[in-house]
Amino acid sequence: MANIGFIGLGNMGGPMAANLVEAGHLVRVFDLSSDAVNSLVEKGAVAAKNAAEVVNDADVVISMLPAGKHVEALYLDEQNGLIHTLNDKTLVVDSSTIDAATAQKVGDALVQKGIGFVDAPVSGGVGGALAGTLTFIVGGSAEQFKRVEPILQNMGKNIFHAGDVGAGQIAKICNNMLLSVLMAGTSEALQMAIDNGLDPKVMSDIMLQSSGRNWTLELYNPCPNVMPNVPSSNGYQGGFMVDLMRKDLGLALDTALKSQSATPMGALAQSLFSMHSMQGNGSRDFSSIFEMFSQRKTEK
Ligand code: NAD
Repeated sequence: MANIGFIGLGNMGGPMAANLVEAGHLVRVFDLSSDAVNSLVEKGAVAAKNAAEVVNDADVVISMLPAGKHVEALYLDEQNGLIHTLNDKTLVVDSSTIDAATAQKVGDALVQKGIGFVDAPVSGGVGGALAGTLTFIVGGSAEQFKRVEPILQNMGKNIFHAGDVGAGQIAKICNNMLLSVLMAGTSEALQMAIDNGLDPKVMSDIMLQSSGRNWTLELYNPCPNVMPNVPSSNGYQGGFMVDLMRKDLGLALDTALKSQSATPMGALAQSLFSMHSMQGNGSRDFSSIFEMFSQRKTEK
């Protein structure tokens, strides 16, 4: 049993912390929302009054916050940053999806003080967080990876070591950039089939057995009523929000600029998802990009 501090109990962090409690760890939790803290206390966690109290004697501190600025402020703030409270016994694990540069900045500052750090962003969404089947993509030294792996196994099924600090974030946004392209491309192909009189279910089955096969067709078909229990068959509610995909595409394109990588498909996907968000779809599931192709106001 480990002594774990958990900061950020939102859609993802809440169920992740609950799985650590369930696995028998002592979990001390903090969130700016007292409702979020109370809901974890009901499940067996211990409430902390502030982030510094979470760190108290922890073997591992895990953060699951919205963006890079929150993570940087949490650890490096001149007055209240946890860097002033942490000691070299604690391993810090940031599972938020943030830019690799901030992950490296936080990691460097902590490591200089002898405090272990890994970035460990996740894939698998709220469903994966609830079920404890997330994929963790870890950036950090081999030694720290060995330390963190058994803890992450309580919240996830697949734990990868991508490379040094920051590599977890890079791998995560490469994956999500590809996912955005696959979702838009699958939507466009399915709608063209429908426009030409084909049944989208039959078309999906054909592509699943042909060279267009991909994850969206296997598990997350964007066309309503082709597949049960996916957001497209539920008014595009739940799942992975358009605005979170936009955030990840922003991180991907910033990275591409720095590394001078050519990402024309990622850039186009970013434009499509931004336009889709501006039309009022920001909080719907990202597979609703299908409607950009299916909804028309003009006669064919
Ligand atoms: P969320 O907005 O539901 O939760 C964030 C939580 O952090 C909130 O409860 C907020 O009160 C808390 N918080 C913010 N600043 C804080 C601070 N300084 N101290 C303590 N608590 C603070 O977000 P989420 O959906 O849980 O996502 C968290 C991260 O996981 C994001 O980086 C997101 O990109 C990533 N992610 C989300 C999904 C998803 O499907 N939701 C999937 C994979 C990765």
